[in-house]
Amino acid sequence: MTFLLNSPADFSHEAVQAFAMANHQYATAVHGGVVRSRRTPAGQPALVVGGGSGHYPAFAGWVGPGMAHGAPCGNIFSSPSASQVYSVARNAENGGGVILGFGNYAGDVLHFGSAAEKLRAEGIDVRIVAVSDDIASNPPEKHRERRGIAGDLPVFKIAGAAIEAGADLGEAERIAWKANDATRSLGAAFDGCTLPGADDALFGVGAGTMGVGLGIHGEPGIKDLPMGTASEVADLLFDGVIAEAPEAHSGRVAVVLNGLGRVKYEELFVVYARLAERLEESGLTPVRPEVGEFVTSLDMAGLSLTLVFLDEELEQYWLAPADTPAFRRGLPKGLEQSWDAPRRTEIYTPGEEEVPPASADSRALAAKVQEVLELFEYRCRQHEEDWGRIDAIAGDGDHGHAMVVGSGGAVQAGRRALDRGAGACTLLVHAGTAWSESAGGTSGALWAAALTAAGSALGDHGGEDEATTVRALLDGVQAVHRVGGATPGDKTMIDAALPFATALEYEWKTPGDLATATSAAAVAAKAAAEETSDLTARLGRSRALGEKSRGTPDPGATSFAVLMETLAEHFRGTK
Ligand code: ADP
Ligand code: MG
Repeated sequence: MTFLLNSPADFSHEAVQAFAMANHQYATAVHGGVVRSRRTPAGQPALVVGGGSGHYPAFAGWVGPGMAHGAPCGNIFSSPSASQVYSVARNAENGGGVILGFGNYAGDVLHFGSAAEKLRAEGIDVRIVAVSDDIASNPPEKHRERRGIAGDLPVFKIAGAAIEAGADLGEAERIAWKANDATRSLGAAFDGCTLPGADDALFGVGAGTMGVGLGIHGEPGIKDLPMGTASEVADLLFDGVIAEAPEAHSGRVAVVLNGLGRVKYEELFVVYARLAERLEESGLTPVRPEVGEFVTSLDMAGLSLTLVFLDEELEQYWLAPADTPAFRRGLPKGLEQSWDAPRRTEIYTPGEEEVPPASADSRALAAKVQEVLELFEYRCRQHEEDWGRIDAIAGDGDHGHAMVVGSGGAVQAGRRALDRGAGACTLLVHAGTAWSESAGGTSGALWAAALTAAGSALGDHGGEDEATTVRALLDGVQAVHRVGGATPGDKTMIDAALPFATALEYEWKTPGDLATATSAAAVAAKAAAEETSDLTARLGRSRALGEKSRGTPDPGATSFAVLMETLAEHFRGTK
């Protein structure tokens, strides 16, 4: 639905006027649409592309050097009128004739057609290119009778580049049709779109299904299939399009993965991952793929895949520079060759760097540390829901999840390090890095700091030794204090961690052993964590909702206390 509008009737007009204001260096509003702000060379053909509104970036977003010269803009989903097309073409034309480009729909054919007649009557040479890439809309032998969908982008991009390179009207027309004949698209929709100001969508797609073969004017798909995963949708679209590959082609394809309005860029990338595999398996090389929103349909939930089977000529124009409000391509002078620079092969990946040599004792200690990490993960899973619930009261509710994925990442990294002969320090450093990387967030960074500091205290050459273990625990707490910068009473992990450290130091000095001292310290941590209920959060995410946090213990302090009790249990069990 549309959230921001003044009046439904004025919506498209206001949007076009304001688009021109925001992009005044590119486009100027004229009756019926926009034209380039700067004069084009006399005799250069004008590429005038358009259709209804509601498809942005198509078509106004493509006005600029290397692409279109003007864009008539109709009402939402309806063709611009003949007089609008005429007006924009008149303003864009500069002695080289006009190509009128649009997606092949009945209304557009009529209005652009009658504008062409009027222009011709005035002695202006006009050629018409109706893009017809949608394979769902007609059989292959009727390619030029198909509807136009996201194929508009590559066809107009290629035609605009040819004009920029000096093509005259006839040549530009030939290249535009050649591009159209090499272009195939197929789309799928998961939910319909809603006209500005309307309450209901133009169509719906049944829950758990998708409509394959959508149009871009809110037409539902031509057949319904069960909804699939991102990869299954990628397969469906790819299989459809590839089945219509021209008999002979170079194996190089322009790829446009187009979001219709409500599909996120991240979702498109996930789909693209599978497409990339399929392209490779099919022996096709993607040339400068475009993944994003190009031809939208208001807020339609859907996507389409377009392939253009390139030859040298089409590829050259597909890659040529363009500078428009919504589509830019090209590099500053002198940097053009960087596309040809060799691909990087040396890539740093954490956890795969060299494992420094370690003593046998330290490797044995590392194995014990790994056991502790595994216990931590187990405990985090048990408490996940609980910690999430208390984090949701004044924070963002992710603490349980963060602890599970953080400790899980640490366990995996620890195992890899152990297999490669790591000592205790290296294992903890790898585990800490993985904790922070898998969990992100505040607690992830703090646990990473703690593990790393504890690792430094243990080193890669010492064996198991209770005094060193105590040092490692104290250093870990100190690192959390230093890195987090919290003060006692701020209602953070520190409010459990500092009492833990104080108790540990004290108990360790009185005759006893590691298990006894850690157990006593864990009891202190638990009591301190419970007492954080009475505090008001002053740091971290909870700060904004400080007062709300009263009455609930701090999540990070609570999880810290649980894990220290886990550690104490482990020491007692191995005593
Ligand atoms: P995020 O706050 O990024 O969502 P989590 O929910 O995993 O991360 O962790 C929240 C916990 O982080 C808090 O409950 C608190 O214990 C701890 N925390 C936040 N800021 C600090 C800090 N500066 N020092 C110590 N601990 C902190
Ligand atoms: Mg949180």
